[in-house]
Amino acid sequence: MRHRIAVIGGGPAGLTFARVLHRHDHPVTVLERDPAPDARPPGGTLDLHENLGQVALDKAGLLAEFQALSRPEGQAMRILDTDGTVLRDWQPRPNDLANPEIDRGQLRDLLLAPLDVQWGRGVTEVQPGTRNGVLVRFADGRQETYDLVVGADGAWSRVRRAVSSATPHYTGITLVETSLDDVDTRHPDLARLIGDGSVAVYGANRALVAQRNSGGHVKVYARFRAPLDWHTDPDRHLGLNRRAGLDLADVEAMRSSLLALYDGWAAPVLDLLRHGTAFVHRPLHVLPVSHTWAHVPGVTLLGDAAHLMPPLGVGANLAMLEGAELAEAVATATGDLDETVRAFEEQMWARAGRWAEITAAGLERLVSPDPTEALAVFDEVQPS
Ligand SMILES: Cc1cc2nc3c(=O)[nH]c(=O)nc-3n(C[C@H](O)[C@H](O)[C@H](O)COP(=O)(O)OP(=O)(O)OC[C@H]3O[C@@H](n4cnc5c(N)ncnc54)[C@H](O)[C@@H]3O)c2cc1C
Repeated sequence: MRHRIAVIGGGPAGLTFARVLHRHDHPVTVLERDPAPDARPPGGTLDLHENLGQVALDKAGLLAEFQALSRPEGQAMRILDTDGTVLRDWQPRPNDLANPEIDRGQLRDLLLAPLDVQWGRGVTEVQPGTRNGVLVRFADGRQETYDLVVGADGAWSRVRRAVSSATPHYTGITLVETSLDDVDTRHPDLARLIGDGSVAVYGANRALVAQRNSGGHVKVYARFRAPLDWHTDPDRHLGLNRRAGLDLADVEAMRSSLLALYDGWAAPVLDLLRHGTAFVHRPLHVLPVSHTWAHVPGVTLLGDAAHLMPPLGVGANLAMLEGAELAEAVATATGDLDETVRAFEEQMWARAGRWAEITAAGLERLVSPDPTEALAVFDEVQPS
């Protein structure tokens, strides 16, 4: 039976869901708020795990294409002390395909290829239980009804309100992202420091991580403990010796504030900030660990909309696996659609709950008053 299915959001969750339904010849409407695929920078690199994201790609029939595009060498990881001493220098074995990296833009294009996404269709509200099914209202005033509406609309999901009153809360840790271009030619010393994969430096209550993307692009993530409004009074909150509040859009003010925050760290590490081109402020929010809801017929959630957790390498993986599993279940279901969705939710909640606990504890240890905690996390998860 062909159900009227809409997925709200064209991120990893929504696109994987749609792509697997497409593989099963099941129609699906993909509704995305962005006006075009390249309306925003796609973001950094993602490592797709062999038991999570890669399973999803296999279900979508895209594993071979992923392997051709992805960067197994990007799994390399170097850890430095704040004085620049190399503490760990881990290289993947040849043919190690456990967690290869792929640029988000490449992954999006891979998933997107045959899909007919409706761009510029921001959803404002989802109302279950109407006579014709689940009503979806759009920012442009239009409305449509479906048998199943899948909320894959990320951290600040509009669909979530139809099933749950939960909202994300601040973790106490903020991330500021910057990037470097053409690192091999413009900053060869930094290129060597970063290597083929990532370099991470952990100090007390702060960390810096730089990750190589394809084409000589590098993303740098400064993570630090701070109140949500730290930038309104950086001196009081972080001792940055700055009288005025910090304008988050002022690139030079952000750069000098971060350099002050990481003052005393090795010069090559600070160069990652010194050469950064723009600074994006991303306070880290999460949903409550083990977020669940009383099942609502005709509506469900996937990915960050269901279980926003700290960005420690699993969010997109889970989002994709859930998308693939729900699509497969819906496409092959012989019984009641709603029972299929209910069973999927139970499975999603159990797995996501475990990962939410792991990543919440991981974030606390990676941005800890005691930097040896971060090294211990690395040693626990990284095969020697
Ligand atoms: C800095 C950083 C690094 C990360 N690194 C990793 C990593 O290495 N590995 C990993 O697995 N995860 C990583 N994550 C987490 C990962 O990015 C997310 O978990 C993942 O993107 C979630 O996918 P999603 O499809 O659920 O949501 P999103 O990627 O947020 O996609 C949601 C989509 O919905 C659209 N949308 C939103 N609202 C509406 C609306 N009202 N109407 C229509 N469309 C809407 C948005 O435009 C967007 O396209 C990282 C996160 C961050 C912040």
